[in-house]
Amino acid sequence: MILPAHDMEPTSWENALRQFNEAAKILGLDSNLLEILTNPKLIIQVSIPVRMDDCSVKVFQGFRVQFNDFPGPTKGGIRFHPEVTLDEVKALAFWMTWKNIIADIPYGGAKGAVVCDTKTLSETELERLSRGYVQAIRKFIGPRDDIPAPDVYTNETIMAWMMDEYSKLVGHNVYGVFTGKPVELGGSEGRIEATARGGFFVLREALKKKRLKGQRIAIQGFGNVGSEMARILFENSFKVIAVSDSKGGIYKEDGIDINNLLAFKKETNSVTGFKRCKAITNEELLEINCDILIPAALQNQITDANAKNIKAGIVLELANGPLTAEARRILYDKGILVVPDMLANSGGVTVSYFEWVQNNIGYFWDRATVETELEKKMVKAFNNIYETSKDFNVNLGTAAYIFAVQKMVRIIELRGFYKHGVCKY
Ligand code: GLU
Repeated sequence: MILPAHDMEPTSWENALRQFNEAAKILGLDSNLLEILTNPKLIIQVSIPVRMDDCSVKVFQGFRVQFNDFPGPTKGGIRFHPEVTLDEVKALAFWMTWKNIIADIPYGGAKGAVVCDTKTLSETELERLSRGYVQAIRKFIGPRDDIPAPDVYTNETIMAWMMDEYSKLVGHNVYGVFTGKPVELGGSEGRIEATARGGFFVLREALKKKRLKGQRIAIQGFGNVGSEMARILFENSFKVIAVSDSKGGIYKEDGIDINNLLAFKKETNSVTGFKRCKAITNEELLEINCDILIPAALQNQITDANAKNIKAGIVLELANGPLTAEARRILYDKGILVVPDMLANSGGVTVSYFEWVQNNIGYFWDRATVETELEKKMVKAFNNIYETSKDFNVNLGTAAYIFAVQKMVRIIELRGFYKHGVCKY
């Protein structure tokens, strides 16, 4: 049955546009700028034939969307997921554009994806698929053009293979074409935990603006970002009372021992079944009675269907797009401080930028330098968005767009491409 448009969940792209349009309206952007800013520069769709271990050939679909390169080369991760679509990649590339501006790093936005289930691939198949993707998109990427990085279900091992493949194709070593690589291969200290550590710095700033009675935390998602966030919070004496992964969640009112949980997850591949914890579902985790809720999994987890049941005082969006536009509005109306993804999770791409800088100059920083530089950038980004929200009397989500769009318009005008209300020809 085809539902009427208003009854359907918005797609990721529609959702991204709704939030952007709100800011564009407040800024009074003209139709020319709207056209420029909401159309991707390049959409690449590729078929990747991969020789499987049983000698059959399977063809995978891959995408790369380069949204906008006015501020500099495009940048953004590569996602491996069985349900990823071009619509989603387009939204993610659009978000990267604004995120990079908010982080104050000289990039446009991009995102890539391969439709695959990494859990069903052997390591050798995964390597051939990763190399095949690079062969397919290599003409469009490079340290001065487009710089991919890890995202959902991709990691530093995959970045190492991809960097190696690109280097072979062009005939010399090129570290700066991918970020999120292992430290031994041009990666940066502190990149693995960067998204979480950046989120932690932002949370600390948010807690200065909104005092909470308690600091009980629930985290949805226990991949790289969620597990690193849990570890950092635990080290800093916060009480993590609930976590979950794709198989389900666990809950313990007086706090989970995250160090033991990390060892357990490494052994069993899941957080479910961890000792002395109550089993809960992913849906229950979101609605749990906690002070700080951190969605760190996939998009569209909090929608108008469950937003009214959220009990946290602060929601820190560590995933990309975990709340729909409507859900954000409901939470803001309830007085919940929602820290938007483009700000909260920008620590990852910020340290990617540090990695690219180190690759370009061929000199590597120590971990302390990376952390200090990251902290400076995250605190500044939070305060920029917070002040914008006060200036325009809007929530942080709209303020993030307003701040980023204003700066993008200025960049476009400085390049001489377009000036509001002025026709040069
Ligand atoms: N995938 C991460 C993100 O969504 C990092 C992107 C990057 O480092 O380029 O922000």
